[in-house]
Amino acid sequence: MTFLGTSAAVPTKARALPAIAVRREGEVILMDCGEGVQRGAVEESIGLGGPMTILITHLHGDHVAGMLGLLQTMSLSQRRRPLRIVGPRRLLKWLEVTSDLLHMGLTFPVEFVEAKPGVVLRTPGFRVKAARASHSIEAFSYVLEEKGRPGVFYPDRAKSLGVPEGRLWSSLQRGRGVTVGGRRVEPSQVTGPPRPGRKIGYSGDTRPSPGLTRFFARCDLLVFDSTFGAKDGVKALDRKHSTSVEAAELAKKAAVRKLALTHFSARYTSTAGLVREARRVFQNTVAARDGLCLSVDYPSA
Ligand SMILES: [Zn+2]
Repeated sequence: MTFLGTSAAVPTKARALPAIAVRREGEVILMDCGEGVQRGAVEESIGLGGPMTILITHLHGDHVAGMLGLLQTMSLSQRRRPLRIVGPRRLLKWLEVTSDLLHMGLTFPVEFVEAKPGVVLRTPGFRVKAARASHSIEAFSYVLEEKGRPGVFYPDRAKSLGVPEGRLWSSLQRGRGVTVGGRRVEPSQVTGPPRPGRKIGYSGDTRPSPGLTRFFARCDLLVFDSTFGAKDGVKALDRKHSTSVEAAELAKKAAVRKLALTHFSARYTSTAGLVREARRVFQNTVAARDGLCLSVDYPSA
Protein backbone atom coordinates (compact mmCIF):
# COMPACT_ATOMS: atom_id res chain seq x y z
CA MET A 1 0.00 0.00 0.00
CA THR A 2 1.43 3.36 -1.03
CA PHE A 3 0.07 6.66 0.26
CA LEU A 4 -0.02 9.25 -2.54
CA GLY A 5 -1.80 11.90 -0.48
CA THR A 6 -2.49 12.14 3.25
CA SER A 7 -3.96 15.62 3.79
CA ALA A 8 -7.50 16.61 4.67
CA ALA A 9 -9.41 19.20 2.64
CA VAL A 10 -6.47 21.37 1.57
CA PRO A 11 -2.99 20.31 0.45
CA THR A 12 0.07 21.35 2.46
CA LYS A 13 3.73 21.60 1.51
CA ALA A 14 4.28 18.02 2.64
CA ARG A 15 0.90 16.45 2.02
CA ALA A 16 -1.20 16.04 -1.12
CA LEU A 17 -4.93 15.33 -1.11
CA PRO A 18 -6.23 11.82 -0.33
CA ALA A 19 -5.19 8.94 -2.57
CA ILE A 20 -3.95 5.46 -1.69
CA ALA A 21 -2.70 2.78 -4.08
CA VAL A 22 -2.80 -0.93 -3.27
CA ARG A 23 -0.66 -3.09 -5.52
CA ARG A 24 -0.82 -6.85 -5.78
CA GLU A 25 0.67 -8.95 -8.59
CA GLY A 26 0.38 -6.21 -11.20
CA GLU A 27 -3.12 -5.16 -10.19
CA VAL A 28 -3.71 -1.65 -8.79
CA ILE A 29 -6.59 -0.59 -6.56
CA LEU A 30 -6.68 3.17 -6.16
CA MET A 31 -8.69 4.45 -3.23
CA ASP A 32 -9.81 8.08 -3.64
CA CYS A 33 -8.38 10.47 -6.21
CA GLY A 34 -7.29 13.76 -4.66
CA GLU A 35 -5.93 16.43 -7.00
CA GLY A 36 -2.51 15.58 -8.35
CA VAL A 37 -3.05 11.84 -7.97
CA GLN A 38 -1.47 11.15 -11.35
CA ARG A 39 1.71 12.98 -10.34
CA GLY A 40 1.87 10.86 -7.20
CA ALA A 41 1.41 7.77 -9.35
CA VAL A 42 4.35 8.80 -11.54
CA GLU A 43 6.51 9.49 -8.49
CA GLU A 44 5.72 6.10 -6.98
CA SER A 45 6.07 4.24 -10.31
CA ILE A 46 2.47 3.07 -10.30
CA GLY A 47 1.69 1.95 -13.85
CA LEU A 48 -1.51 3.39 -15.28
CA GLY A 49 -1.98 0.90 -18.10
CA GLY A 50 -2.60 -2.34 -16.21
CA PRO A 51 -5.60 -3.85 -14.45
CA MET A 52 -6.96 -1.06 -12.25
CA THR A 53 -9.98 -0.36 -10.08
CA ILE A 54 -10.74 3.03 -8.56
CA LEU A 55 -12.78 3.19 -5.35
CA ILE A 56 -14.23 6.59 -4.45
CA THR A 57 -15.52 7.07 -0.92
CA HIS A 58 -17.62 10.23 -1.39
CA LEU A 59 -18.15 13.20 -3.65
CA HIS A 60 -16.18 15.91 -1.92
CA GLY A 61 -13.79 17.64 -4.33
CA ASP A 62 -10.65 16.80 -2.37
CA HIS A 63 -11.35 13.06 -2.78
CA VAL A 64 -12.44 13.01 -6.40
CA ALA A 65 -11.18 16.02 -8.40
CA GLY A 66 -7.90 14.30 -9.26
CA MET A 67 -9.71 11.68 -11.28
CA LEU A 68 -10.12 13.96 -14.30
CA GLY A 69 -6.39 14.53 -14.63
CA LEU A 70 -5.76 10.86 -14.06
CA LEU A 71 -8.15 9.78 -16.82
CA GLN A 72 -6.64 12.40 -19.12
CA THR A 73 -3.12 11.11 -18.47
CA MET A 74 -4.29 7.55 -19.09
CA SER A 75 -5.78 8.58 -22.42
CA LEU A 76 -2.66 10.47 -23.47
CA SER A 77 -0.69 7.30 -22.76
CA GLN A 78 -3.17 5.30 -24.84
CA ARG A 79 -4.65 3.11 -22.15
CA ARG A 80 -6.88 0.47 -23.78
CA ARG A 81 -7.91 -1.74 -20.90
CA PRO A 82 -11.28 -1.04 -19.29
CA LEU A 83 -11.10 0.94 -16.06
CA ARG A 84 -13.46 0.00 -13.26
CA ILE A 85 -14.70 2.80 -11.05
CA VAL A 86 -16.77 2.26 -7.91
CA GLY A 87 -18.45 5.14 -6.11
CA PRO A 88 -21.70 6.91 -5.22
CA ARG A 89 -24.18 7.03 -8.11
CA ARG A 90 -23.72 10.73 -8.88
CA LEU A 91 -20.04 10.13 -9.60
CA LEU A 92 -21.01 8.69 -12.98
CA LYS A 93 -22.98 11.82 -13.86
CA TRP A 94 -20.03 14.04 -12.92
CA LEU A 95 -17.69 11.90 -15.03
CA GLU A 96 -19.98 11.97 -18.04
CA VAL A 97 -20.56 15.72 -17.93
CA THR A 98 -16.96 16.73 -17.31
CA SER A 99 -15.37 14.31 -19.77
CA ASP A 100 -17.78 15.62 -22.42
CA LEU A 101 -17.22 19.31 -21.60
CA LEU A 102 -13.45 18.86 -21.57
CA HIS A 103 -13.41 16.81 -24.81
CA MET A 104 -11.40 14.16 -23.03
CA GLY A 105 -11.82 11.51 -25.72
CA LEU A 106 -11.11 8.57 -23.44
CA THR A 107 -9.12 5.81 -25.16
CA PHE A 108 -10.59 3.12 -22.87
CA PRO A 109 -14.01 2.06 -21.61
CA VAL A 110 -15.10 2.99 -18.09
CA GLU A 111 -17.09 0.34 -16.24
CA PHE A 112 -18.97 2.10 -13.48
CA VAL A 113 -20.22 0.23 -10.43
CA GLU A 114 -22.49 2.01 -7.96
CA ALA A 115 -21.31 1.66 -4.37
CA LYS A 116 -23.81 -0.08 -2.10
CA PRO A 117 -23.38 -1.88 1.20
CA GLY A 118 -22.17 -5.44 0.57
CA VAL A 119 -19.95 -6.96 -2.09
CA VAL A 120 -19.53 -4.43 -4.90
CA LEU A 121 -17.20 -6.31 -7.19
CA ARG A 122 -14.50 -8.90 -7.58
CA THR A 123 -11.12 -8.00 -9.04
CA PRO A 124 -8.36 -10.47 -10.02
CA GLY A 125 -7.02 -10.48 -6.47
CA PHE A 126 -9.76 -9.19 -4.20
CA ARG A 127 -13.37 -9.22 -3.22
CA VAL A 128 -14.33 -5.56 -2.65
CA LYS A 129 -16.98 -4.77 -0.05
CA ALA A 130 -18.54 -1.44 0.82
CA ALA A 131 -20.28 -0.17 3.95
CA ARG A 132 -21.93 3.13 4.76
CA ALA A 133 -19.62 5.59 6.46
CA SER A 134 -20.89 8.34 8.73
CA HIS A 135 -19.96 11.66 7.11
CA SER A 136 -21.69 14.93 6.18
CA ILE A 137 -22.80 13.53 2.80
CA GLU A 138 -23.35 10.00 1.46
CA ALA A 139 -20.03 8.22 1.98
CA PHE A 140 -18.68 4.69 1.87
CA SER A 141 -15.88 2.73 3.48
CA TYR A 142 -14.27 -0.19 1.68
CA VAL A 143 -12.54 -3.45 2.48
CA LEU A 144 -10.41 -5.51 0.13
CA GLU A 145 -10.55 -9.20 0.92
CA GLU A 146 -7.89 -11.30 -0.72
CA LYS A 147 -8.81 -14.81 -1.79
CA GLY A 148 -7.76 -17.53 0.64
CA ARG A 149 -4.70 -19.66 -0.02
CA PRO A 150 -4.46 -23.46 0.12
CA GLY A 151 -3.03 -24.87 3.34
CA VAL A 152 0.66 -25.57 3.99
CA PHE A 153 1.93 -28.53 1.94
CA TYR A 154 3.62 -31.39 3.85
CA PRO A 155 6.11 -33.20 1.55
CA ASP A 156 6.59 -36.07 4.03
CA ARG A 157 2.89 -36.95 3.97
CA ALA A 158 2.93 -36.90 0.15
CA LYS A 159 5.97 -39.19 0.09
CA SER A 160 4.48 -41.61 2.59
CA LEU A 161 1.38 -41.87 0.40
CA GLY A 162 3.61 -42.73 -2.54
CA VAL A 163 3.14 -39.47 -4.47
CA PRO A 164 6.37 -38.72 -6.37
CA GLU A 165 7.77 -35.18 -6.26
CA GLY A 166 7.03 -32.97 -9.29
CA ARG A 167 3.86 -32.36 -11.26
CA LEU A 168 1.60 -34.29 -8.87
CA TRP A 169 2.88 -32.29 -5.90
CA SER A 170 2.03 -29.02 -7.60
CA SER A 171 -1.48 -30.32 -8.40
CA LEU A 172 -2.01 -31.15 -4.73
CA GLN A 173 -0.60 -27.75 -3.69
CA ARG A 174 -3.13 -26.06 -5.97
CA GLY A 175 -5.97 -27.98 -4.36
CA ARG A 176 -6.47 -30.72 -6.97
CA GLY A 177 -6.59 -34.42 -6.08
CA VAL A 178 -4.28 -36.87 -7.92
CA THR A 179 -4.27 -40.61 -8.67
CA VAL A 180 -1.14 -42.67 -7.94
CA GLY A 181 -1.03 -46.38 -8.84
CA GLY A 182 -4.83 -46.48 -9.02
CA ARG A 183 -5.21 -44.83 -5.60
CA ARG A 184 -6.73 -41.40 -5.09
CA VAL A 185 -4.88 -38.84 -2.92
CA GLU A 186 -6.80 -35.74 -1.92
CA PRO A 187 -5.18 -32.37 -1.05
CA SER A 188 -6.59 -32.54 2.50
CA GLN A 189 -4.38 -35.62 3.13
CA VAL A 190 -1.16 -33.72 2.44
CA THR A 191 -1.90 -30.10 3.35
CA GLY A 192 -2.93 -28.19 6.45
CA PRO A 193 -6.21 -26.26 6.68
CA PRO A 194 -6.80 -23.50 4.09
CA ARG A 195 -5.22 -20.17 5.06
CA PRO A 196 -7.14 -16.91 4.87
CA GLY A 197 -6.07 -14.12 2.53
CA ARG A 198 -5.27 -10.63 3.70
CA LYS A 199 -7.89 -8.00 4.52
CA ILE A 200 -7.33 -4.29 4.05
CA GLY A 201 -9.77 -1.60 5.18
CA TYR A 202 -10.13 2.06 4.26
CA SER A 203 -12.57 4.29 6.11
CA GLY A 204 -12.60 7.41 3.94
CA ASP A 205 -14.03 10.42 5.83
CA THR A 206 -16.14 9.28 8.73
CA ARG A 207 -17.06 9.25 12.38
CA PRO A 208 -16.40 5.92 14.07
CA SER A 209 -19.49 3.69 14.33
CA PRO A 210 -20.41 0.22 15.58
CA GLY A 211 -21.23 -0.76 11.98
CA LEU A 212 -17.72 0.17 10.84
CA THR A 213 -16.19 -1.67 13.79
CA ARG A 214 -17.87 -4.85 12.56
CA PHE A 215 -17.05 -4.09 8.92
CA PHE A 216 -13.33 -3.73 9.67
CA ALA A 217 -13.13 -6.72 12.03
CA ARG A 218 -9.72 -8.40 11.97
CA CYS A 219 -8.31 -6.31 9.12
CA ASP A 220 -4.60 -6.95 8.61
CA LEU A 221 -4.23 -3.26 7.85
CA LEU A 222 -6.82 -0.58 8.55
CA VAL A 223 -6.45 2.96 7.20
CA PHE A 224 -8.69 5.31 9.16
CA ASP A 225 -9.72 8.97 9.17
CA SER A 226 -7.55 10.82 11.69
CA THR A 227 -8.27 14.42 10.83
CA PHE A 228 -7.85 15.78 14.36
CA GLY A 229 -6.03 15.32 17.66
CA ALA A 230 -7.92 14.55 20.86
CA LYS A 231 -8.13 18.21 21.96
CA ASP A 232 -10.03 19.02 18.76
CA GLY A 233 -12.57 16.28 19.43
CA VAL A 234 -15.46 18.75 19.17
CA LYS A 235 -14.37 19.78 15.69
CA ALA A 236 -14.18 16.10 14.69
CA LEU A 237 -17.73 15.61 15.90
CA ASP A 238 -19.01 18.78 14.13
CA ARG A 239 -17.34 18.03 10.82
CA LYS A 240 -18.05 14.31 10.86
CA HIS A 241 -14.44 13.21 11.05
CA SER A 242 -12.48 11.22 13.63
CA THR A 243 -9.64 11.93 16.02
CA SER A 244 -6.59 9.67 16.07
CA VAL A 245 -7.74 8.32 19.45
CA GLU A 246 -11.18 7.46 18.04
CA ALA A 247 -9.48 5.68 15.14
CA ALA A 248 -7.37 3.74 17.65
CA GLU A 249 -10.39 2.81 19.78
CA LEU A 250 -12.16 1.43 16.73
CA ALA A 251 -9.01 -0.45 15.65
CA LYS A 252 -8.78 -2.04 19.09
CA LYS A 253 -12.44 -3.07 19.16
CA ALA A 254 -12.23 -4.43 15.62
CA ALA A 255 -9.08 -6.41 16.58
CA VAL A 256 -7.17 -5.28 13.51
CA ARG A 257 -3.45 -6.11 13.20
CA LYS A 258 -2.19 -2.67 12.23
CA LEU A 259 -3.66 0.84 12.03
CA ALA A 260 -2.47 3.57 9.68
CA LEU A 261 -3.73 7.07 10.43
CA THR A 262 -4.31 9.42 7.50
CA HIS A 263 -6.29 12.47 6.31
CA PHE A 264 -4.58 14.95 8.63
CA SER A 265 -5.83 18.49 9.05
CA ALA A 266 -3.43 21.11 7.70
CA ARG A 267 -3.18 22.54 11.24
CA TYR A 268 -0.79 19.69 12.19
CA THR A 269 2.65 20.20 10.65
CA SER A 270 3.80 17.14 12.55
CA THR A 271 1.61 14.08 13.11
CA ALA A 272 3.79 12.80 15.98
CA GLY A 273 1.32 13.97 18.65
CA LEU A 274 -1.60 12.27 16.94
CA VAL A 275 0.28 8.96 16.75
CA ARG A 276 1.39 9.24 20.38
CA GLU A 277 -2.21 9.70 21.53
CA ALA A 278 -3.42 6.82 19.37
CA ARG A 279 -0.69 4.42 20.55
CA ARG A 280 -1.84 4.73 24.15
CA VAL A 281 -5.01 3.00 22.97
CA PHE A 282 -3.72 0.83 20.13
CA GLN A 283 0.02 0.21 20.06
CA ASN A 284 0.48 -0.96 16.47
CA THR A 285 -0.35 2.43 14.94
CA VAL A 286 1.59 4.39 12.32
CA ALA A 287 0.99 7.78 10.74
CA ALA A 288 0.81 7.73 6.97
CA ARG A 289 2.82 10.31 5.04
CA ASP A 290 3.00 10.96 1.33
CA GLY A 291 5.16 8.30 -0.29
CA LEU A 292 4.92 5.88 2.65
CA CYS A 293 4.79 2.30 1.45
CA LEU A 294 3.47 -0.38 3.82
CA SER A 295 3.67 -4.05 2.94
CA VAL A 296 0.91 -6.20 4.35
CA ASP A 297 2.19 -9.57 5.53
CA TYR A 298 0.09 -12.70 5.64
CA PRO A 299 -1.22 -13.46 9.11
CA SER A 300 1.18 -15.95 10.70
CA ALA A 301 -1.51 -18.35 12.00
ZN1 LIG B 1 -11.78 14.56 3.10
